[in-house]
Amino acid sequence: MENFRKDNTKYADKASNIIRRPRTPLNGAQGLSKSPDSSFHGNDRQGGIYVLNRFINSATVSPMKKILCLPMVLLLISSCARGNGLYTETRVIMATYITITLDRSGKTEDELARAAGDAFARITKVDDLMSTYKPMSNLSRINANSGIAPVPADPEIIENINDASYISSLSGGAFDITVGPLVNAWEIGSKKAHVPSPETIKKTLPLVGWRDIVVNKKDGTVFLKKRGASIDLGAIAKGYASDRAVAALLEDGIKGGIVACAGDIKVFGRKPDGSPWTVGIQNPRGPEGDVLAKIPLTDMAISTSGDYERFFFKDGKRYCHIIDPHTGYPVNGLMSVTVLAKDSWLADSMGTALFVLGPEKAYALALKHPELEVLMITDSGKELATGRFRGMKVNMAAVKS
Ligand code: ADP
Ligand code: MG
Repeated sequence: MENFRKDNTKYADKASNIIRRPRTPLNGAQGLSKSPDSSFHGNDRQGGIYVLNRFINSATVSPMKKILCLPMVLLLISSCARGNGLYTETRVIMATYITITLDRSGKTEDELARAAGDAFARITKVDDLMSTYKPMSNLSRINANSGIAPVPADPEIIENINDASYISSLSGGAFDITVGPLVNAWEIGSKKAHVPSPETIKKTLPLVGWRDIVVNKKDGTVFLKKRGASIDLGAIAKGYASDRAVAALLEDGIKGGIVACAGDIKVFGRKPDGSPWTVGIQNPRGPEGDVLAKIPLTDMAISTSGDYERFFFKDGKRYCHIIDPHTGYPVNGLMSVTVLAKDSWLADSMGTALFVLGPEKAYALALKHPELEVLMITDSGKELATGRFRGMKVNMAAVKS
């Protein structure tokens, strides 16, 4: 049995080198969206600009209800669109919209459809492995056996746990995939969202702790030490999915494109006319599609975590779906965090980690990591930027705190 504590100490030593950390190549699928209520709307609505946003009123929709509706939605929205030398296909997987856009250059319609299909298949496989909404998923079985027995785990789950533990270590535990019991206690994103009693929080907190994940690499098993503990990969695996989908597209010889798993987007190559892809950042307090800034991108991942996607108000206070694992309560302090990185899993997980850390600590950490470029909007409508976001025209006047 190898406890993650050892591994994580090792990762912490590499903290200044996160982008270059080698990753094990895998032959399967990836990513998970555990957010049945979030939707991506990026299909050229802004004249070729992809907008990182979600449904703002999603907190009123029951996850179960939405999941049950999915097969129908899938039929309605799956499409292959022509135009501008681009192939675009959107599917609902993991209860969220996934849009793949490809440069058509040198490829037949069949080849493009096959390549997109290969990328979608990888994402689907991950959902099957890692969804906590599917009782028979590999991850659900690991969770159901917490405190009871180690469960054989797919290498992709182990890879995600590995990466997540690294980010936990880097963020001093702000990022923690064992928030599962807290996520379940708050039920944010469903109709049942509510403020749990202080007793419930007190009872739940001891179940949370990334160091209690035990991975046996030799046997390929995962064991959660505490009965009732559970892993939730909602803050990392959609990014991972984008990475793996892009890997599939490159294997199929596609020159350039975009994979957008909800707000976790990875671009590769360029547009057919040689110009960079453009991604827009959603105004966290504006209507859907209201863009604060436009970023030209090639071979980069971008991810936004926000308090405007899944949340509810109680007594005038906003409670969002990102939870501080130390207090057990949803985090305040930032409206949105956008992270640019080479890898999408990293942009995704760091977006959540910085969100939990809050403006001051997050900014200090971001400054230490030039391989991450960060744009944060604080609760009071202030902009904190690193890398290329510094000096970029951001329409902060549009953000109402
Ligand atoms: P989204 O899933 O909307 O893209 P994030 O990437 O920020 O947004 O992930 C938020 C999700 O991650 C939550 O819905 C929850 O499932 C999980 N989560 C909440 N708090 C934390 C945390 N402190 N560390 C890791 N995962 C978290
Ligand atoms: Mg995230």
